[in-house]
Parts: sequence; C-alpha cells; structure tokens
Amino acid sequence: MPRDDEMISPFGSDLAYRIGSRLTVSLSAIVANYSVLRARAGSARVAAVVKADAYGLGAVQILQALREAGCSDFFVADVAEARRLSPYRLGADLYVLNGFQPGAEETCAALGITPVINSLEQAEHWAITAERLGCVLPAALQIDSGMSRLGLQPTEIDKLAQRSGWFERVSVRLIMSHLACADEPAHRANASQRRRFVDLSRRLPKAPLSLANSAGVFLPKPYHFDLVRPGLALYGIGSIPGQKLEPAFRVDARVIQVRSIEAGAGVGYGLSFKAKRPSRVATVAMGYADGWPRQLSNRGSAYHKGIKLPFAGRVSMDTILLDVTNLPDGALGLGDYVELVGDHQTIEDVAADAGTIPYEILAGLGRRLARKYTREALASPAGRCQSQ
Ligand SMILES: *Cc1c(COP(=O)(O)O)cnc(C)c1O
Repeated sequence: MPRDDEMISPFGSDLAYRIGSRLTVSLSAIVANYSVLRARAGSARVAAVVKADAYGLGAVQILQALREAGCSDFFVADVAEARRLSPYRLGADLYVLNGFQPGAEETCAALGITPVINSLEQAEHWAITAERLGCVLPAALQIDSGMSRLGLQPTEIDKLAQRSGWFERVSVRLIMSHLACADEPAHRANASQRRRFVDLSRRLPKAPLSLANSAGVFLPKPYHFDLVRPGLALYGIGSIPGQKLEPAFRVDARVIQVRSIEAGAGVGYGLSFKAKRPSRVATVAMGYADGWPRQLSNRGSAYHKGIKLPFAGRVSMDTILLDVTNLPDGALGLGDYVELVGDHQTIEDVAADAGTIPYEILAGLGRRLARKYTREALASPAGRCQSQ
C-alpha cells in the first residue's frame, strides 16, 4: 500500500487524489526501462529526456528516481523547465534542447545549465556571456544533419570552427543531432543523416557525440555514439524486438453517474449517439480539458474488468459518456474507476483511435488529473469500497 506522502495532486493533498480521475506512474517501471536501455546502449551513456514535464508524467519525480538509478544527464526543452528541475538534479547535467532566448543567458549560467546551441546567434550570445562573467561556460552543439528543425548548417559550422576564441570561452560537452525517421528502421534517411552527422562533426573540435532518441537506441550500434537520449521508451512506450518495456503508467477515470435510457434516446452534445436498444450510460470525470481527445467521440473506449465500454457521443470538456450496457446492472456506480490506459488498452491504442501519436496524448494530460507515484508494479485501482 503506498504511503500517503507518495500521493500528490495538483491541489497539494492526497484528498484530491482520492476524489479525481487519476494518473498512476510507476517509478520502478521507469527505472527498469532505463536498465533495458542501458543494456541495449552498451558503452554509450544513457541520458533521460524529461521535457514537457517528462511527457506529462512528472519530471521532478522521474528525474529523482532516475538520478538514484545512476542517470546523470537530463534533457528538457526550455530554460523554464531546466530552472524548475535544477534544485533536484544533484550534480547531474541538465541540457536545454531549444537553447535560450535572448535575456535568459545569465539564468542559464547561474544555474549551471548546459544550453544546446542551435544557431550562430545563440553561440555568439553564449560566448559574450562567458566573457562578461569571466568564466568558461558549458554547451552542447547541435548540427542539422537533415531534419531541418534545429541546429547549425554546414556553412555555420565552418564559421564557428574558425572562431578559435569561441572554443576558449565555451566548453563543448556534446555534439548532437536528431533523426527524423528513426521509428522507421529501414528508412534511407537514417543512414544518410548518420553519415552527415559524422562528417559535419569532424569539422569541429572533438567532443562526445549523440544522435539517438528512443527509436535510435533500437537501431544498430553505429547509431549510439557516446550518449543516447531516450524519452518515450523510458515511459514504457514502443516495442523492441525481443525485449519488453514495462508499462510505466495507467489512467483511470472515475464514474460520476450511471443512468438507463430507452432505445432511440440521444446521448451527449449534438445527440450524435442514438441508443439502438435500451441501454445504460455511465458518465465519467474525464474530458478534453483533461487531455482526452475530442477526436475520440464515438470512437474511443474504456474498460472495466476486461469488458470494453465504447464512448457514446461526443467527448465534452469535463465528461465522457460510456455505453456500459454490456456490464451487469449495478456493476459500476459513483466513485468506481474505469480504465482508459492499463491492462486492456495501451496509449498506442488510444492514439491510434484518435488518429495521433502517443506523445501527443501523454504530453497533453491535464493538470486536473490526480497523480500518484508508486515504486510498485501497476495494479488496477480497487472499486468504490477501497480503504486507502
Ligand atoms: C524529444 C527528443 C528526444 C527524445 O525522443 P523520444 O522519441 O521520446 O525518445 C531526443 N532528442 C531530441 C532532440 C528530442 O527533441
């Protein structure tokens, strides 16, 4: 049974955890997935990408668990995220993928954050800051190896390489790039990006190299270089031939009300669902304000004890209506939970139903969901009589 201090919620007390729909995160599963990635990465260091609040799962808790497990490199998207995590990092390196906006240099320097330098302009600002502070500042350099998203282009790399003064002011901890098609292992772009990355990195002073995200870790060894940067796989998403990642979270929505309706009755906004038979409808406390996509209207499902409960009608802001006619009368009532992600439905299933990718649903999970962190494997929440 988890201790009360492990239950936290956006409202700051465990009470909210008991009354709301919930997101349960298994820190032990994330640590186990970290070990799988470490084994797979061989001699390459394994960093953890905890941007966007660790894809919505809670960056502080996950950073702390992975730090304990020996991870010493963490990536976030922006300086605000880095600032929030900085007090918890215990000497680990914190890299900021987007680098900094003008004006944030001093904050980065003061906190000992390592910005990823994506442009000559950022490079210039960083060196000026180092000069002003009279110190050498750390940085990662990003190279655009073909994705056209972030990073220095060949002519910019050459310009920077010629500025020997820059490399005296800035200590380059990492040269990195990002794969556009790593999730399609046979895609030709993978090999061509890799080749380009190696060629371009040789124009710069020697530093450790990093190319692979989660999908890149599951490409062959030549893609691993000195450091890999998985996010998604840590959170149990994706599959590797011959290896199993542990599910790291579940989402359960709580029942507010159950009603019986006549055949022909309409359900929800626009009455887009019409009962074909006398039916029972359960209303659960989850909606698009909680990040459950409206695209799942009349398409998504929940589960209760393995029985599929199709969404009836449109997803609204705070509620979803479920056709629970296939359950015995009285099987669900006020306070019970239904599974949205868990033993019977993965986030990949949900994303497929919604026509999107798991990243988008995870990162969009609302602040209203109560969050629970456990060091145990994930179990279904008990019904309305639970004592905790
Ligand atoms: C988000 C991100 C990652 C992690 O990607 P996953 O697919 O979640 O493993 C790694 N590197 C960069 C540059 C990223 O933006």
